[in-house]
Amino acid sequence: MLPTTSSRTGSDSPDIYLDSNATTQVLELALLAAQQAMQANFGNPSSTHSTGLRARALLDSAHKVAQQVLGAGQGRVMFTSGATEAIQTAILSALSSAVDATTPDSASTAGKFLLYGATEHKAVPEALKHWNKVLGLQCEIHAIPVDQHGMHDLAFLASHAANTLLVCTMAVNNETGVISDLAGIRAAIAGSGALWLVDSVQALGKRPLDLATSGIDYAPFSGHKLYAPKGIGMLYVRQGAPFTPLLVGGGQETGQRGGTENLPGIAALGAVLTALHQQDPVFQSHAVQAAMRQRLAESLQQAFPGVVFNAAFDNAVATTLNFSVPGLSSKEMLDLFDASGIRVSSGSACNSNKVVRSFVLDAMGLENWRVTSAIRMSFGPATRPDEIEQACERILRAGSALRNACLLFGGDSARHEAQTPAKGLIRLMHETACSWIYCDQKEQVCVIIDPLPELMERIARWVACRDLQVVAIIATDAHHVACRHALQEKLRERMACQQTDNLGWPNQDVSVLQLQDGTPVAALALGASYLMKLPLPDASEAFYLLGHSDGQRCLAADVRFAFIGDTLPEQHSHLARWLSPHTLLLSAHDQWQQFASTIERESQLAAPVVPGNDDLNLPCSQLQAFLQAHPKATLIDVREGYEHGMGLAGLDLGHEVRAFNAPLSRLPEFIADWLQNPEQELLFVCRSGARSGLAASCLRRLGHQQAWHLVGGLALQ
Ligand code: PLP
Repeated sequence: MLPTTSSRTGSDSPDIYLDSNATTQVLELALLAAQQAMQANFGNPSSTHSTGLRARALLDSAHKVAQQVLGAGQGRVMFTSGATEAIQTAILSALSSAVDATTPDSASTAGKFLLYGATEHKAVPEALKHWNKVLGLQCEIHAIPVDQHGMHDLAFLASHAANTLLVCTMAVNNETGVISDLAGIRAAIAGSGALWLVDSVQALGKRPLDLATSGIDYAPFSGHKLYAPKGIGMLYVRQGAPFTPLLVGGGQETGQRGGTENLPGIAALGAVLTALHQQDPVFQSHAVQAAMRQRLAESLQQAFPGVVFNAAFDNAVATTLNFSVPGLSSKEMLDLFDASGIRVSSGSACNSNKVVRSFVLDAMGLENWRVTSAIRMSFGPATRPDEIEQACERILRAGSALRNACLLFGGDSARHEAQTPAKGLIRLMHETACSWIYCDQKEQVCVIIDPLPELMERIARWVACRDLQVVAIIATDAHHVACRHALQEKLRERMACQQTDNLGWPNQDVSVLQLQDGTPVAALALGASYLMKLPLPDASEAFYLLGHSDGQRCLAADVRFAFIGDTLPEQHSHLARWLSPHTLLLSAHDQWQQFASTIERESQLAAPVVPGNDDLNLPCSQLQAFLQAHPKATLIDVREGYEHGMGLAGLDLGHEVRAFNAPLSRLPEFIADWLQNPEQELLFVCRSGARSGLAASCLRRLGHQQAWHLVGGLALQ
């Protein structure tokens, strides 16, 4: 049976889907058309019997409406498997014509240009490279630069056009929504003889299309970007433009694309195009779309002071907002939105599994922070205003959650009644480097270890927002000293002591404690804990220990953490006499996301790795059975506090099980306790299974065998 969905998108779902540039939900009218084509009208359009003729009629009517919607005139529209295939076909056609035009031995295509917009979807430059190579053309492939607004450099285009075989630009950018100046591009290449491909995937249903009069030779489209299923697309080819089929076979599509037609997909796309053509109210008017964008923009501005939009609204489709929030990475924002039940992306969908830098924003020359913080929020022409209203409410809630966690920059969030208590050890990361803050909640004091320049603003805000006094800002080596000075200056009024040694160790309020073997060490009180400095032979380096003490001695069993900077394991061995097997060694870098080590673990490193750690992976399908078999297991949400606060949507735990929040940024604090209790059964969860996997592996590695994680995370529930 087909799922019952509303004829619109996002009907009863708790999710608000704002990632329509990646793909869209199939509209009910498209679903019904596909179902019809699979059941009642399942024939092969090439068959000559009545069943086939009915299928042919369906195909013809889809062709007809496609011609109308695209304004194809005498040009041809053929159905393909999607835009990527349409792009290949267009590029193959254009480049094959260049081969035909040259005689095998003389005039060559070598040195001719193939140009593409620097912000083009990867399918275009990749196809250019591929076919240039396969056809042996030796053309030069160049990106057409864009300005900070994402607009093509028309002067560049005009100056290169005469030597160019093919120009590829897009109508609307998929990451920013920027609308290209197609008239300007047309004028820049006019009379050059260059063929022109315009990737129109993101324009369908959002921009007027009149291809026959546009001067465009090839225009690819994709069904799944406009409420049809995946696996169906279209290619427009101008009448008279060169054409070479990519697929040959049974002569379908009048010999231009072999293979039995994907009739369910074509029927579905045909139904969507018909609705578009008839201005079906399922699609919002441009004015309504613009008003919805305005609402989203206002909510974002209210929720995230300092938010910057990466494309001007007056030259972008209303359905795409690309923005950056100062001080928060794309990954953090994605996680926050996901926890709030809003699905967005950090850029193009194929890249969102792993957050990678946006080459589009880089090509626009945006500042680094805007690129690394970018979020794309995109809705579709069928998104309803009430869905946007709901999204706005959730955006505001997400903003409050961040403010409560003291993570917002700008606006009036300098001092805030932080609701998330600051306590224990917190790890902040920039790429693979770590900074640490240890905080005593009762005394409202903290110490900052190895601050990184990239995290300085965040640390300063975090400390100010929680109204903490800073006992010291210390470095484990000379690398961190410059930032230490700058941060000390920034937090001047909060510093307990201004006079320090070169690594930031204060000259006042220092006591002396004895370690396990009687070694005396300088110590600073941090509420109930002490921070101790262990000078290293090189005076520009030091280790620091953090633990409990009676004010006289700090026994090995009481040392919880050792901050070891970037030193090598050989340098740690002499620490053994002062540390317990559970003392965590915390380094200034964590390339492999291992969080912590122990002396015991380091001594085993030379030993062969014990295989078979796979059983830490718990498939979602086995969650209930696991919880029954392990009634005492603690479920641990390793998402950050502001994500956890939004709930564990979708996770069916039964009423007995409580979820406990141990965010990755505080994991070492919790590991220190869990290692003392090796029988405690721990089941980690997060959004995608990535963070929980890290936590479970870390515990297993440190010898706690009762650790598992939910593969696929909350997303698969
Ligand atoms: N071109 C643009 C601008 C796109 O956004 C996409 C999809 O992300 C494509 C091409 C590829 O489309 P398809 O998934 O149909 O191959």
